[in-house]
Amino acid sequence: MNLPRLGSHMSIAGGYHKAVDAANQASCEVVQIFTTPPRQWPVERDVSATLPSAKPVKRRGQATRAPRAGGSSVITDEDVARFQAALDELQISDPLVHASYLINLASPDDALWKKSIDALVVELRRAERLGIRMLVVHPGAFTTSSEELGIQRVVQALNEAERQTRGDHVVCLLENTSGQGSTLGYRFEHLAEMLSGTQQPNRFAVCIDTCHAFSAGYPLESAAEYRRTTAQLEKTVGRAAVRAIHLNDSATPFGSRKDRHEHIGRGEMGLAPFRRLLNDADFANVPMYLETEKGEENGENWDVINLRVLRSLIKG
Ligand SMILES: [Zn+2]
Repeated sequence: MNLPRLGSHMSIAGGYHKAVDAANQASCEVVQIFTTPPRQWPVERDVSATLPSAKPVKRRGQATRAPRAGGSSVITDEDVARFQAALDELQISDPLVHASYLINLASPDDALWKKSIDALVVELRRAERLGIRMLVVHPGAFTTSSEELGIQRVVQALNEAERQTRGDHVVCLLENTSGQGSTLGYRFEHLAEMLSGTQQPNRFAVCIDTCHAFSAGYPLESAAEYRRTTAQLEKTVGRAAVRAIHLNDSATPFGSRKDRHEHIGRGEMGLAPFRRLLNDADFANVPMYLETEKGEENGENWDVINLRVLRSLIKG
């Protein structure tokens, strides 16, 4: 069995290659990034330039505000070259982009829904531009409609985004969620239904987050529980559709339907689920990324600590 490739989420402050440097310094083998600040809308163009679109637009019910510059500025050839060179040189593989949290593909509100499709298209194009083959997105929240209608909206949105990026190579990964509020994707069945509605199945797959699965009520601790949960995954989306895994412990209890990540082994999940997953040959080829808090404990980088804990669980 191959050893699983482990890594973390890194900041692109100072350039895309800086995320790769940081990943290397933290002993990562893979890296996840945002290309847009996670709580801003991705924009296609560099709004700091004197483009007509940089003018503030007044919309009904909204305050006039100039678009923010800098956050998701245009990706230059030099950005791409430095990013790709750093991946090569430092042997960091499986770069993955996480899409903006503002995107809601399930929204019953037409304006927000359309804005979300536009944003997803921008995210897909930016990933493609960087030579990245995977973009992970949360399916969204149905708010005032229903799960069924929400899932239909997601499917329509995915197909529209795919149509607008046809010929590109980026695979859009739908992430399972903890099921907070009206968010969809907390059942593997939701993800399976979304995938089966897409017209170009090769452009879509799934990312599984351990914290979200646990807080959504999928047990992973005992051998029997782990087998049952992975069998459910197999029966719904299919294991082959799982292209990335987010490794997070949960700060909130099993089935709490809350999304609060915790350092590995320091939360409610304990180490057993991670030990099972890391030694499961079915997922040995799926890149795995931490999304735990940054910072240090006793002067040591948290990513380094979490990766050491994870690697200590792998049976050689
Ligand atoms: Zn995640």
